[in-house]
Amino acid sequence: MKNLALHWKILLGMVLGVAFGFLMVSFSGGKEVVLDWVKPFGTIFINALKLIAVPLILGSLISGVSDLKDISKLSKMGGKTVLIYLMTTILAVSIGLVLVNSIQPGDSISEETRTELVSNYSQSTQKYKEEAANQQNNGPLQALVDLVPDNIIGASSQNKNMLQVIFFAIFFGVGLILLPEEKAKPVKDFFASFNEVILKMIDLIMLAAPYGVFALLAALIVESPSADLFKALGWYALTVVLGLSLMIVLYTILVLIFTGKKPKEFLQGISPAQLLAFSTSSSAATLPVTMERVHEHLGVDEEVSSFVLPIGATINMDGTSLYQAVAAVFIAQAFGMDLSLGVQLGIVATATLASIGSAAVPGAGMVMLVIVLAQAGIPEAGLALIFAVDRPLDMCRTVVNVTGDATVSMLVAKSEGKLGTPKVHDWNDDYKKV
Ligand code: ASP
Repeated sequence: MKNLALHWKILLGMVLGVAFGFLMVSFSGGKEVVLDWVKPFGTIFINALKLIAVPLILGSLISGVSDLKDISKLSKMGGKTVLIYLMTTILAVSIGLVLVNSIQPGDSISEETRTELVSNYSQSTQKYKEEAANQQNNGPLQALVDLVPDNIIGASSQNKNMLQVIFFAIFFGVGLILLPEEKAKPVKDFFASFNEVILKMIDLIMLAAPYGVFALLAALIVESPSADLFKALGWYALTVVLGLSLMIVLYTILVLIFTGKKPKEFLQGISPAQLLAFSTSSSAATLPVTMERVHEHLGVDEEVSSFVLPIGATINMDGTSLYQAVAAVFIAQAFGMDLSLGVQLGIVATATLASIGSAAVPGAGMVMLVIVLAQAGIPEAGLALIFAVDRPLDMCRTVVNVTGDATVSMLVAKSEGKLGTPKVHDWNDDYKKV
């Protein structure tokens, strides 16, 4: 057991958590026991991961950017990163649209089921609509205004302001590049060791990962709605999962073609991050682990990983965009609407933008789906149709979001000549040392 690779331990924690959840719901009062005595450990685990996010971005991005030596390198890498992110997202939306139009999952929903789902869940979806309405009220340049914080302490105090912290860290790094070496060195050295400390803290948190995911999944099972609903939405869920699986295959092919890394090695290196993404449904909470795995186990230089991954966690959500495309067309089909090619192309654009705007937290994709629906003229009430299966699909799409970020970081690293041999070969090595 001690020598079992980390991803197996996490997987075991997940399976046992699910089994424990099912066992506990079969007892009266079992649900309350899990919520009172098990769930808090899952919350503590997620909090510990989130706690690391801001210091990690500050430490690694500042030392990564300041190592770049000149600013033109930074802008070249930035342009490349954003371009590849956009391309993978558009590809994901297109795959989603092709699948949902071929499988037509919406046609399998009877009028009766539709009315039942809408009346059962329209209350629950109200908060998503309100959140989306707030975002829609903003002017066209609001996203740009939001990028620049007016106070760095204020910005760092909330994880949802990740882009602002990224902006500050890059700006600070640029300042360091422009200083003469002897003046910049003490600050650079400070951030380099600060970063090492944070990475060590991640190793420590990861020791608790199998127990953390056990608690998270046990709580999820006791809180989930009845299985009957899942059946009604089976074809829809299957279409999303099929699309997401295709994305994973596509990533392994891209990595193989452009970097020569074999799919097995790539997936083994990134799997602990994927399993955490699945258990937490949050790319932001997973970010520390994604960064550590990509750097130490896949050989991406920190100059690249520290820049590409935090940006990716906030703006690159291939899984989310694919899901939004499938969900929008599925709802239209269920309401008997025929979407023209023009409307579907509009969905490509809005789902791409909506996924960029989605926060890296559970359920964020659904908030932005409201905007995709509104643009395409699809009834918002349809949100209630897919609500029951949203959480499991959120878990799956977060895995794709995180894998997409890791893939792009490898492609960018390769093109910059910054992909080396991984520091750690044995998957457990670094965790054993702590
Ligand atoms: N939970 C997803 C993430 O964190 C976002 C979403 O699709 O809801 O990446």
